[in-house]
Amino acid sequence: MKKIGVLTSGGDAPGMNAAVRAVVRAGISTGAEVYAIYEGYQGMVDGQEWIRPMSWSDVGGILYKGGTLIGTARCDDFRERHGRLRAAKNLLEHGIDNLVVVGGDGSLTGANIFRQEWSGLLDELVENGEVPYEVAQAHRQLTIIGLVGSIDNDMWGTDISIGADTALHRITDAIDAISSTAASHQRSFVVEVMGRRCGYLALMSAIATGADWVLIPESPPNLDEWEEKMCSVLKKGRENGRRDSIVIVAEGAQDRKGNEISCGYVKHVLEDRLQEDARVTILGHVQRGGSPSPFDRNLSTLMGAAAIDAIMSDQMYGEAYLIGLIGNKITHTPLDECLQKTKAIGEAIKNCDYDTAMDLRGRGFREAFQTVRTLVRAVPHDPLPGQKQRRIAVINGGAPAPGMNTAVRAAVRLGLDKGHAMFGINNGFAGFANNEITELNWMSVNGWAYLGGSELGTNRHIPANSDFYKIARNIEEHNIEGLLIIGGWSAYVAALELHQRRNNYPAFNIPIVCCPATIDNDLPGSELSVGADSALNSIIDSVDKIKQSAVASRRVFVVEVMGERCGYLALMSALATGAERVYLHEEGMRLTDLAKDVELLVSGFKGGKRLGVIIRSEGANDTYTTDFMCALLEEEGDDYFTVRKAVLGHMQQGGNPAPFDRIFATRLATKCITFLEDQIGQTEKESACIGLQNGSFKFTEFLDMMRLMDMENRRPRQQWWMQLRPIARTMSNGKAKSSDA
Ligand code: ADP
Repeated sequence: MKKIGVLTSGGDAPGMNAAVRAVVRAGISTGAEVYAIYEGYQGMVDGQEWIRPMSWSDVGGILYKGGTLIGTARCDDFRERHGRLRAAKNLLEHGIDNLVVVGGDGSLTGANIFRQEWSGLLDELVENGEVPYEVAQAHRQLTIIGLVGSIDNDMWGTDISIGADTALHRITDAIDAISSTAASHQRSFVVEVMGRRCGYLALMSAIATGADWVLIPESPPNLDEWEEKMCSVLKKGRENGRRDSIVIVAEGAQDRKGNEISCGYVKHVLEDRLQEDARVTILGHVQRGGSPSPFDRNLSTLMGAAAIDAIMSDQMYGEAYLIGLIGNKITHTPLDECLQKTKAIGEAIKNCDYDTAMDLRGRGFREAFQTVRTLVRAVPHDPLPGQKQRRIAVINGGAPAPGMNTAVRAAVRLGLDKGHAMFGINNGFAGFANNEITELNWMSVNGWAYLGGSELGTNRHIPANSDFYKIARNIEEHNIEGLLIIGGWSAYVAALELHQRRNNYPAFNIPIVCCPATIDNDLPGSELSVGADSALNSIIDSVDKIKQSAVASRRVFVVEVMGERCGYLALMSALATGAERVYLHEEGMRLTDLAKDVELLVSGFKGGKRLGVIIRSEGANDTYTTDFMCALLEEEGDDYFTVRKAVLGHMQQGGNPAPFDRIFATRLATKCITFLEDQIGQTEKESACIGLQNGSFKFTEFLDMMRLMDMENRRPRQQWWMQLRPIARTMSNGKAKSSDA
């Protein structure tokens, strides 16, 4: 039987609990024995009660908790060989020779050194007579699997680390709040965000909040003129109608010579040069705290399960690997390589070699910085001589999705900055037919970065009959040369309707690009859509509360979530809340399954279970409705539990967009504008939808897009997330029967 130790170390990060839960449950499910090592490396060095076997229920009810329940610490002993020697002895006492370490680069560096020394440590323990020779022989190799648990997202080898998304939630919530008070008084605020030598949080929060200036360590401002430039942009912004100025400063911000740029200094510069009050807010540890976001819960769960897979497969036996997430795929990279590259970024910044630092952070980072530089401008660049001015229209379609406004704002500003005329079409395709079209300027979209809903207006209208003629006439009247459609399924169908009629209506012979924006995540050509993450946030907020409401009763909740026939929201929210069972249209619902599930629940409650959560995708089955399920459970649950229904409804479509949706919307919109620019000049104009595929942004031509669509069920034919179902099942049931999730 494999024995696996799991520890959390270094700075805590929201999502660490979910990772520990996943390691324990996936480990137990595959027949391993999993030990928690409390208080990070300190527990390993001290041994005894700090290393304890974990049962299925030991990790129940922790998914939604921030921080780390098994504790973390900085441990100086472990930095020394004698400390690591004691740690090795304590592990051998339990027969542990596999470690899952959840921590930052410091913790993972320690783990890497520990593995390299392992054999030597064993020899020394045998020589000293502290460990019998046979015991050392039975554990000659130590396998290390590292998961990056750090809000900073500063590690090479993964697109994102456990905790970074939650930290972005905390930061965007704070800056949204600061913006409203700053705007009331026409004030400037300087906000410092965490990240040590990494500008990820600062950069992404600048995109997400529509901040007016950002300073990051990887790309410092020029030495002599940056203060002047910043102040002149902020001043122009005010003259142009902005009511507040927000400057985000990464905690590691520095100038080109490597001198620190502190918030205090920025405040001083603003007060001095703009003669106005500036306030400083240092967000501090708030950024690390609180309940993990659904993204972090699911990321940790997938990474924890992948760590167990890696250990059980023996493919990484005796080695050290880092589990990362690149795009939507779990990756395994030698830990050594990840640590070396991470160190190289730190050194590049220290040596003022900023090009290398930006390169090593990855392509997305550089692009994001470019985008921010445009979006913070007070006014667009003057057009270059000879630059072609295009006329581009933007429209929303389908149900509202949080992040639609963010996408429109980015598209409009980037388009204007490139010298184009930008038009907004109000009220979807119905408005298009009614000629509800207005030209937009830089300030028309001011403040839209964080607004939920759709300022342009959106609906599910799909053009038919006389609409086509009217739309064609309006395109001609405004001389629109390219169309950006930001919306959901009906918007995509509307796009195809226009495209297919381009022989009858020459006006439709313009490039069209569709940008996925729907909470349902049911669109072709993209693994994710803008709005889905925000909806997941709303769902888990509610389910967490629903679960708490039931503390004193024996109760089963049937929670119905949106998505029509696409089960993405249902599955991901089940994974993030630890629901017992999830019903999806994709899997179908049979009476025999329902009977089996009822039986399982009844036996669980007979055995002391107190709470059950079942998540049902709204379109899971037309006959076995949510009401039917509740009635069935109520009848069969008899004396063991009562049943309550929670139909979450439209709150899933509302609210301000989550940081991920804002960032994603901005990045998609940027690429859509470039696409239209390219296509408008072509004789054969292409139309496509954009999306995230395997970690890259790709365009899918309309013809291929149609092939990917399951028109009857209104979802893509292939859905990548279906492969996550076994993990959801393992986490909720596994082999053992849980008494809580
Ligand atoms: P983080 O993991 O968040 O980067 P630290 O850098 O504080 O946090 O590291 C956490 C712990 O990892 C340290 O207290 C120490 O026990 C261990 N550690 C860090 N660096 C090393 C090292 N070079 N050698 C051995 N152990 C280390």
